[in-house]
Amino acid sequence: MDLSIKKADHLNPLPDESCLAFGTLFTDHMLNMDYNQKKGWHNLRIEPYQPIVMDPATMVLHYGQAIFEGLKAFRSGTDEIVLFRPQENFARLNRSARRMCIPEIDEEQALCALKELLRIESRWVPSTAGTSLYIRPTIIATDPYLGLGVSNTYRFFIILCPVGAYYKEGFDPVRIWVTEKYVRAVPGGVGEVKTAGNYAASLYAGSDAKANGYTQVLWLDGVERKYIEEVGAMNIFFVIDGEIVTPKLSGSILPGITRDSVIQLARKWDVPVAERRISIDEVVSAHESGKLGEVFGSGTAAVISPVGEIRYKEKSMSIAGGKVGPWAHRFFDALTDIQYGRKPGPDGWVVPLG
Ligand SMILES: *Cc1c(COP(=O)(O)O)cnc(C)c1O
Repeated sequence: MDLSIKKADHLNPLPDESCLAFGTLFTDHMLNMDYNQKKGWHNLRIEPYQPIVMDPATMVLHYGQAIFEGLKAFRSGTDEIVLFRPQENFARLNRSARRMCIPEIDEEQALCALKELLRIESRWVPSTAGTSLYIRPTIIATDPYLGLGVSNTYRFFIILCPVGAYYKEGFDPVRIWVTEKYVRAVPGGVGEVKTAGNYAASLYAGSDAKANGYTQVLWLDGVERKYIEEVGAMNIFFVIDGEIVTPKLSGSILPGITRDSVIQLARKWDVPVAERRISIDEVVSAHESGKLGEVFGSGTAAVISPVGEIRYKEKSMSIAGGKVGPWAHRFFDALTDIQYGRKPGPDGWVVPLG
């Protein structure tokens, strides 16, 4: 692999691990790579973390041709640094790239370069329980051109930030608000890819939920506003009458790697799990008949996020008595045991730096 490395002259002091926030502090180095039509992807390099200087006309700033990923590196009990299913993240980055007319990257090379970056930044992978190093691969359109079209040049970069335990004081069930007024994505749109504009588009409904005292938004489908899609930027699971149910990938739902991991674990444990359409009315009637056992979200940041309350129209539904249900607990423990190397996972899930 053609990877050049320029080390920083000055290394930043490590933060106090007991007060790590999310996404505010970055490591000393970053990975960069450029694209143009003549050379394709080229100049793969690790260099000091630094600003990207851009022409104000740079396309990504105006038309949002940008995609990203989010994954984590963990320090295991034996002091080894491992990644969780990173191949899936680079495969998804390329699926996002295709949808957004961005040239695909070499997934194997990107993973290899990420591992090298992590070797250089290994001191930044925290060791306190529940902490990790968050990894943000991104691709942006860089032509300085105001005409609407596909950019001819791109920048791929990866930045890293140490993050604290998501649940410092134990699980904290979230309260979610079903929005009927706004939608996240529509069939044929870009809901199934991790592209920047999806998140900008979700902010208004999120602040609406917060103004009403709720933590996150539960999104319904964009056509009938009837079927459940996701919660905030997480996938969602319901336990109804002993069966674990999650909305099937409709084209407007982001195919989460944590979602897939939960489904695979459930199958491995021989627990009934279904990917199917699930309407908000079904959730309401399951709640009314006492069959709605649990609700939880899944995503890289929180792993599993128990839901304590769902508000739909004038109705507030308390889930599992506002407490953490046994399935949320079991999936959280199983996934984090695998991520931190306490227990072996299915083949290929845990990737050491080597
Ligand atoms: C990233 C993301 C998820 C979760 O995906 P993971 O791979 O599990 O982290 C779910 N929904 C949205 C909208 C996302 O952006």
